[in-house]
Amino acid sequence: GLPVLAVVGRPNVGKSTLVNRVLGRREAVVQDVPGVTRDRVSYPAEWAGKRFTIVDTGGWEIDVAGLDAAVAAQAEAAVDLADAVLLVVDARVGVTEADDRIVKMLRRSGKPVVLAANKVDSPVQEGDAAALWALGLGEPYAVSALHGRGSGELLDAAVAIL
Ligand code: GDP
Ligand code: MG
Repeated sequence: GLPVLAVVGRPNVGKSTLVNRVLGRREAVVQDVPGVTRDRVSYPAEWAGKRFTIVDTGGWEIDVAGLDAAVAAQAEAAVDLADAVLLVVDARVGVTEADDRIVKMLRRSGKPVVLAANKVDSPVQEGDAAALWALGLGEPYAVSALHGRGSGELLDAAVAIL
């Protein structure tokens, strides 16, 4: 089958918005409230002539009491099935405990990872993205999933590791 790219990250960082940008249409559900269930999270995608399956990991129930652990467990299940991972972090918020848990899990998985520093809507926020070098996952690709800024470079990097 096609190579699988899993899009992971804590709720509200813009995973579904980014998936929609890749698809060129609004198919993944964008939500301000985490935990919305959705049965279909895998979509056929194509970028730079490469076909792949993109998995939006937003569709699981989240136990608010154990939010960080639940998010990490959900991401892990998707990563197990993936060939490569696109980790999305909200560059405006910076690194949270939930982000750290996901990064640790990704290291254990040994899967190749591309890092998206999302919500960089304007050049003045580039510094927020640069701070994510500290995660040790290589270059943080500054993007605005909402406006499309930087998404081409990010997707070039993502298909390169598939
Ligand atoms: P998910 O939970 O990670 O799938 O996040 P969503 O894609 O549902 O987005 C959560 C919220 O962040 C929504 O209100 C989006 O419109 C907003 N959002 C996503 N990407 C961006 C971005 O690049 N810039 C800004 N300003 N908002 C964004
Ligand atoms: Mg989502």
